[in-house]
Amino acid sequence: MPDMNLAIDNYRINPESQVMLADWAGDDDGGLDKSETKAATAALSERLVELQHLLFAQGKHRLLVVIQATDTGGKDSTIRRVFGPLNPAGVRVTGFTKPSDQELAHDYLWRVHAHTPAAGQIAVFNRSHYEDVLVVRVHNLVPEAQWKLRYQHLREFERLLSDEGTTIVKLFLHITPDEQRRRLQDRVDDPTKWWKFNRADLTERERWDDYQAAYSDMLARTSEPVPWHVIPANHKWFRDHLISTILVDTLEGLDLAYPEPDEDLTGLTIS
Ligand code: AMP
Ligand code: MG
Repeated sequence: MPDMNLAIDNYRINPESQVMLADWAGDDDGGLDKSETKAATAALSERLVELQHLLFAQGKHRLLVVIQATDTGGKDSTIRRVFGPLNPAGVRVTGFTKPSDQELAHDYLWRVHAHTPAAGQIAVFNRSHYEDVLVVRVHNLVPEAQWKLRYQHLREFERLLSDEGTTIVKLFLHITPDEQRRRLQDRVDDPTKWWKFNRADLTERERWDDYQAAYSDMLARTSEPVPWHVIPANHKWFRDHLISTILVDTLEGLDLAYPEPDEDLTGLTIS
């Protein structure tokens, strides 16, 4: 099994750094062999199932996984492939789309907090509170003076969650513009994918550079106290492997164990 443990650090943002997203290769595959890596990912997936079982049984820790990406970046397929094998009773996936009128009538974190994980649970955010410094910035949905303050809110929000016992993993799925073109074309060419095609994705694509600037600032300005991981995501097999490695590493870092029993049941016979 390839040892990815060292590599995780290479994909984690150092909060001191200036982030130039263009310096990160979306088509990076870590120099790994595809079929060996897929086998290793399958083993990691089994380990993840065991760890989630303990997390659920212990009912102590909470895990929040935040996934951001550009359109076609692979958020949905990551969720299906990495979290699909887990016990659904312990996983909640929340997709954050355009806020409703009621949500817009509140502060931007109002709709988010209620979906953070309960003890023993894994919450997965498909888009997140970060849209409020991404699409909101690129489309000037609020004035710059307002969204600029949000980096600090976001850091403090995650500090609050962490201080209160939630472990947070942040994943930014990074693809190249050419890969996005292929994926959009693929949706157009396959009528069974038309439901996923949105013309607005094409106008968003024209703003590629604005989004890259917004992502770069997000990565640089919100990597403490909880660091972002930049996941090269052109190759789905590599993406899944890196994410599985990060999740296993994170859960192994918690003191997961079966809860202390109320009584010793040794020798008890049920009649
Ligand atoms: P999809 O992920 O394809 O379902 O698209 C969801 C859409 O909702 C994307 O275009 C996001 O940019 C948009 N969205 C998510 N959060 C916000 C937000 N806070 N403000 C405005 N648009 C948002
Ligand atoms: Mg979409």
